[in-house]
Amino acid sequence: MGAPITDKKVLEKFLELDQPQNKCMCEYVWIDGTGEGLRSKCRTLDSVPKSVKEYPEWNFDGSSTYQAEGSNSDMYLQPVSVFRDPFRKGHNKMVLCEVFKYNRKPAETNRRYTCAQIMERAKDHHPWFGIEQEYTLLAFDGHPFGWPKNGFPGPQGPYYCGVGANKVYGRDIVEAHYRACLYAGVNIGGCNAEVMPAQWEFQIGPCEGIDMGDHLWMARYIMHRVSEEFGVVVTLDPKPMEGDWNGAGAHCNYSTLSMRNDGGIRAIEDAIEKLSKHHVRHIKAYDPREGKDNERRLTGQHETSSIHDFSAGVANRGASIRIPRQVAEDGRGYLEDRRPSSNCDPYAVTEVIVRTTCLDE
Ligand code: ADP
Ligand code: MN
Ligand code: MN
Ligand code: MN
Repeated sequence: MGAPITDKKVLEKFLELDQPQNKCMCEYVWIDGTGEGLRSKCRTLDSVPKSVKEYPEWNFDGSSTYQAEGSNSDMYLQPVSVFRDPFRKGHNKMVLCEVFKYNRKPAETNRRYTCAQIMERAKDHHPWFGIEQEYTLLAFDGHPFGWPKNGFPGPQGPYYCGVGANKVYGRDIVEAHYRACLYAGVNIGGCNAEVMPAQWEFQIGPCEGIDMGDHLWMARYIMHRVSEEFGVVVTLDPKPMEGDWNGAGAHCNYSTLSMRNDGGIRAIEDAIEKLSKHHVRHIKAYDPREGKDNERRLTGQHETSSIHDFSAGVANRGASIRIPRQVAEDGRGYLEDRRPSSNCDPYAVTEVIVRTTCLDE
């Protein structure tokens, strides 16, 4: 089962062909109607645009992406952020787009549109984010990559940040993704093997404002493409394996200018106080099904807090919000919101954090 893998050696013969200097291949990337899935398609431009504004608007068939009815299916792609293409290399680009409906209103899953407005209004706070993207590699049969076909690996313990063929599964994919992100210009900060075997994490950030969402979505796109080449599937499901196996989150680390300045711990405590008053609103924004996905993950076990309660604490990985120990010692820095699900939309997450803590609305 699964897509057949073609011979990459044959492909190489064609990728060696000269590409005309005046032809730029542009892969337009967008979020589909699930709010989770990514789609892309390519077009040739006759020169390399100098800024994102010079990339032409484009369109696609929204009835094939869960975004529109067949009778009125044209959707618009508005380029918003450009990256180098690590797959085609040269002067080719990957172009992240916002999606608009036939009437020019943002598509339902275009969460970037309002996020950008909020970030603009809060820009004097200089909000920084760093998101830890956890994910799980799967074989075509839906079983975690490298797990025994008819059973389970040994219990959790040796796998987190592990080393050795019996401890980590799929490091080639992780290494390829890291380099591809650096090449593309994605602000990747690090990576590590996670607690459940075949589960990994990469960190994007710190990014200011709208860049957080842009860079994380492009990092996810690159992850899916790299895995596709290895014949492995990536899932962002927050609890891919039931039972005594850790789920996957997208911890959102966050600071404003005043939190980063001397004595910033006061600003961090103020922000936590505000966050405590909006727990339900945040949970709704932290996965694509308004808390339904996170219900399976935020159980209060496996290094999570309960979805029903708000809590905060220094170095506490069982709390909604953790203040890293170093931050408590320095008296300034950032906080970590551990609630967002691995399949969250970072635009929705960062928007609601800034609304609550900077704009008081
Ligand atoms: P953890 O100990 O929770 O596993 P990680 O090292 O995986 O932490 O991730 C820490 C994240 O915090 C990184 O993405 C980093 O970019 C981010 N970060 C560091 N400093 C700040 C800051 N001042 N504001 C926002 N994010 C920050
Ligand atoms: Mn981490
Ligand atoms: Mn982690
Ligand atoms: Mn974390």
